[in-house]
Amino acid sequence: MNKQAILCFHDFSVENFRVAKEQICRMMEAAGAPISVAVIPSIAGASAADVQEFIAALDALKNAGHELLLHGMFHRASQNLLRNFFGKVACALTGNEAEFAGLLKEDSQKLFLQATQTWENLKQSSPQVFVPPTWYGNAFLKQQVLQTCAVYDGRSAIFWKDKKIFSPAISFAGLPKWSMKFLCLFAKILFQFSPGIPRLVFHPIDFQILGEEKIAGLIRKMVAIRQLKQYDNLRK
Ligand SMILES: [Zn+2]
Repeated sequence: MNKQAILCFHDFSVENFRVAKEQICRMMEAAGAPISVAVIPSIAGASAADVQEFIAALDALKNAGHELLLHGMFHRASQNLLRNFFGKVACALTGNEAEFAGLLKEDSQKLFLQATQTWENLKQSSPQVFVPPTWYGNAFLKQQVLQTCAVYDGRSAIFWKDKKIFSPAISFAGLPKWSMKFLCLFAKILFQFSPGIPRLVFHPIDFQILGEEKIAGLIRKMVAIRQLKQYDNLRK
């Protein structure tokens, strides 16, 4: 089985970690292996006790073999930052979640730095993978990220400093319920025939819209066809 794939849970945060860690367990059971987890580092508004418990949950994920990815700063676009036309459209399309979309060079650098510092304040080692929320970035972000992280996770490819792999992202969040059936079918076609390394991505909301059974079914289908990888061992 030479074909590879990545399974990722997005948006693990201080607001949802108690429920999300159970959802990640269900995904791991279906996959038969630990997965990649994209974490929103912001702890704004959380109590000190919640932050401690959140850090313990992150440590528990790592100890269970999951890989932690840095996923933006707030996962919410600031209205106070200037954005180009593309960035404004990306924010409109994503309910204002594309926080890096269309930012100026300096603002992008500052926000990325804030994300890495907040991550380190959560007692986590330097992030190896950065995923911009909703995969919308700006003209400068990839280069800024690759000065600190080994991997930039883009919309249709995974980037290293010296390498790029085509990688279609299969994601359901934010899409209408009627389209789920087609998306599931499309996902199964991609598992079978896609070049590169497809990323199957679930968000907390998918457990309500798609349901645990369908999510587990898709994961089982994928790992029957492709070898599950984490970003960390993609190059090996
Ligand atoms: Zn996200």
